[in-house]
Amino acid sequence: MERFRKSQLLLALTVLLILLLTSCSFIDENGNFSLHKSTEQSSEVTAGNSSDNSSITNYDELDRANPPVYDGNNYVTINGNIPEFSKDMLSEAGLIVSEKGKWRTSQEGGIFSAVDGKAVKAYEVYEELDSLGRCTKAYGCFGRETMPEDGEERGDISRIRPSGWKSGQNWERCHLVAWAISAENANERNLITGTHYLNYDGMRPFEEAAESYMYGKNHHVLYEVEPVYIGKNLVASGVHMQAASVEDCGKSVSWNVYMFNVTPNATIDYMTGIVTTEEQATQEARLYVLNKRSEVFHYPSCEGAASISSKNRKEITATRTELTGKGYTPCGYCQP
Ligand SMILES: [Zn+2]
Repeated sequence: MERFRKSQLLLALTVLLILLLTSCSFIDENGNFSLHKSTEQSSEVTAGNSSDNSSITNYDELDRANPPVYDGNNYVTINGNIPEFSKDMLSEAGLIVSEKGKWRTSQEGGIFSAVDGKAVKAYEVYEELDSLGRCTKAYGCFGRETMPEDGEERGDISRIRPSGWKSGQNWERCHLVAWAISAENANERNLITGTHYLNYDGMRPFEEAAESYMYGKNHHVLYEVEPVYIGKNLVASGVHMQAASVEDCGKSVSWNVYMFNVTPNATIDYMTGIVTTEEQATQEARLYVLNKRSEVFHYPSCEGAASISSKNRKEITATRTELTGKGYTPCGYCQP
């Protein structure tokens, strides 16, 4: 009798547990049945489908000399969010290309009428820096071959000073192709001077969607990231990112977006890398100590100010904006 009751109780608990588990996994907040709720939801949202996110502006094409201006969203879509890859990029990945040398996806999913999984080849290219020392483009067919090993730790990237880098301005070394996808550490061809907003709010959700399609499977993503600079600016105004999942013909991952390298409520000088917050912009004139040789200015209390030789030292009363406007750089240590 005692044994019978225990087994009954066990059965009831098991049934309860199964009910709980199934209701969590398969029924979303709208009560719809969904087998892969979390994955589908994240790839839909992050792929920036315009049907889901009507506030996102679309541009027919990206004018690189005159890129879109920040509009309050962290990205805009290009070409209806449909990626376009060069024929070379596709053939390098072992994919057969047809029409007009360009591979196109459609919102329905794909141009690969059939993908031969065995023919798909992972590869990655980080193009040379340009004559101004700026990153130019990173692209390839990424998959488990290019991703970090399980348990592998990120390497140190602090020795890289991407073009336009200025200390004390809250810049981040921003991967063109994320470490989780490429396992690239201190690769100067893959790191740009980027804002936290670009790195985390802009790029990260997209990178995570691509990573989740590839991770633990023999899946690949065609992926291309190209920074966009206006004129000879050393800091990119934004990045153009395109991606498509290969094995499912672009159903899980398919986007063509331009993301803004901005910080809301701050002004960025894309030539010098100096960032001015709203608060700094309205500061009144005060006393600073200027090093005439290095053209760096400090708060008078800074250790760096104390060590300037009298020959190079100049005390000046001005606003921060007046000094940065003359080409002087705020000290990275005291961060005036
Ligand atoms: Zn200082």
